[in-house]
Amino acid sequence: MALAPNVYDAEPIPDAARAEIDRLLTSGDLFRYTSENAPVSLLEADFAEMMGVRYALAVSSCSAALFLTLKALDLPAGARVLIPAFTFAAVPSAIVHADCVPVLAEVGADYRLDLADFEAKLDDTIDAVLISHMRGHTSDMDAILRLAEAKGVPVIEDAAHSLGTLWHGRKIGTLGRVGCFSFQSYKLVNSGEGGIMVTDDPEIAARAIIMSGAYEHNWKKHPGMQNSFHHWQNKLPLYNMRMNNLSAVLVRAQLPEVARRVTDGRANHDYVAGLLNASPWLSVPPALAPEERAPDSIQFNLDGFATDAEAHAFQAAAKAQGVSVQVFGLSEDNARAYWNWQFLGETADLPKTRAMLMRACDVRLPARLTREDLDFIATALVRAATEVKGQATGVAAE
Ligand SMILES: *Cc1c(COP(=O)(O)O)cnc(C)c1O
Repeated sequence: MALAPNVYDAEPIPDAARAEIDRLLTSGDLFRYTSENAPVSLLEADFAEMMGVRYALAVSSCSAALFLTLKALDLPAGARVLIPAFTFAAVPSAIVHADCVPVLAEVGADYRLDLADFEAKLDDTIDAVLISHMRGHTSDMDAILRLAEAKGVPVIEDAAHSLGTLWHGRKIGTLGRVGCFSFQSYKLVNSGEGGIMVTDDPEIAARAIIMSGAYEHNWKKHPGMQNSFHHWQNKLPLYNMRMNNLSAVLVRAQLPEVARRVTDGRANHDYVAGLLNASPWLSVPPALAPEERAPDSIQFNLDGFATDAEAHAFQAAAKAQGVSVQVFGLSEDNARAYWNWQFLGETADLPKTRAMLMRACDVRLPARLTREDLDFIATALVRAATEVKGQATGVAAE
């Protein structure tokens, strides 16, 4: 019998990184601003070219990129930032860190923004919109950009988990004013920790570069924007959220792998989705028409599971076969369940998002898995659902 696949390990770092890391270990040249053409600068140039944008700024995490973006937009203290309620706790945290106030909009059973609630909450009190493409799921960006434009508020994309995703063939993370990506180990490109922000706006780029910690005249090591830098010199705080050269070497070595990881991840996801959708008890919401996904995990809903006890029984049955399933809302203290973000104070209940979180399952599905691994996972999940809910006979065993 096949063994349960390990879905947690990352892929090995490509050998191309070794010689450069050796060089850095020998020279000790780890700080991005010591030499010209340091690995962090080269990464910024590579990433900007890959995404087709004018500016990229590599920093210590996606959270830091989101924080610097909000600061670079020069939002007043107390500014209200509208976000989807299905996201990771780091996102409302970055907003709080930037002295702004997160406002949560409902998310539907398809993991995407509920546009009616989004439009209702996008009133004159909202200063910015931050769209978290949670688990790589893309909400209707056409509608979001149109509604935000009509209100004259900027759209920031949290594309932490969306590297390689397309919308009408355009790269996610380049649709809004600023896009932010993560290189934390559970994302498509892994340097342990790290993030990068991309924009075409020279003022935002200049302000973010200075605030990221380009103290004194270190901004001269960034291309372009010299007038903006002169203007902002000494006028902005230095938050020191720079990336170090070792991380940049790890990221650069993986950029040539991105296309393969995207293709394989999508094929794996769609294969497992087909098997899960054949069960009457499991459903994988389809992508929106303009969206081409780049998944490294799969989310699906438990259908007809009337009680939390049934959902727990499904988790236990899958676990007994070697497959761990997270149901976002069922585990205590889950960082993706908005009711656990107590640092926000009192937040209104969001019944749609809550209902989704209580039945939405999450299984990692890294691009390196084999067909045998995928069959193992899908079979275990379908069997677990059948064990709890019975064989589909048209007369559900409720
Ligand atoms: C991982 C993640 C983040 C946080 O990224 P860090 O680099 O760990 O700060 C934010 N948003 C989403 C959607 C994520 O998946």
